[in-house]
Amino acid sequence: MLSIVSIIFGALIGSFLNVCISRLPKEESIVWPGSHCPHCKKPIKFYDNIPLISYIVLKRRCRHCHSPISFQYPLVEGVTALGSLILFTKFGPSLSYLLYFPFVAALIVITVIDLYHQIIPDVISLPGIGVGLLASLTIPQITLFNSVIGILLGGGSLFLVATLYQWLFKREGMGGGDVKLLAMIGAFLGWKAVILTILSGSLIGSITGIIIMVLKGKDFKYAIPFGPFLSLGAVIALFCQNELSSLYLKLMKG
Ligand SMILES: [Zn+2]
Repeated sequence: MLSIVSIIFGALIGSFLNVCISRLPKEESIVWPGSHCPHCKKPIKFYDNIPLISYIVLKRRCRHCHSPISFQYPLVEGVTALGSLILFTKFGPSLSYLLYFPFVAALIVITVIDLYHQIIPDVISLPGIGVGLLASLTIPQITLFNSVIGILLGGGSLFLVATLYQWLFKREGMGGGDVKLLAMIGAFLGWKAVILTILSGSLIGSITGIIIMVLKGKDFKYAIPFGPFLSLGAVIALFCQNELSSLYLKLMKG
């Protein structure tokens, strides 16, 4: 029963995340005015704004101007609902769920905005560092010390890589947004997760990059945003940190 509530709650938050995704890059208010169709600007009535369901009922089109509704809307709502359910299954009705859910929600918003605009808004990552630090004081999964080291390692390591890259290749390879994002990830998950995030994020990012190069014939200068892969790496670290650490130790022992 509570699992169903967590799915509905997740879908509703996902609907709000869609608002953040379309308005944050334009520096518009995320609370006012209410949702409106991006094409005909007509306000969307509450019964046409039900997460996932309205998309199907309206047959993927605006009720007024019949412009197609982007697949991004149900996708973000669905992924957020699923994230909420998985977190709830892992942590139960606890403070950990209430703190890790906004963390995952922030990663979802960052991923989509970075894909569209190649930016990671500071208004998410910077407060995120603070919230992660505060979370470490209240939840059993992480200590304050681990969170602080996580911020320093996350921010510091990428800052070093970015500076080195710029010095070697005389152009910007990694944005400051990635540095702040990894600091936020470190704040919530600790220093071990930062290493795991960099490893899995780089691995998945490189594979994706190679696939894009082969399919589209573009060279390495074609910049793929790193934020989505760091976010994915962080989610992997959040759910599989212990499993991956013990797997690594097993491999080391031979
Ligand atoms: Zn419309």
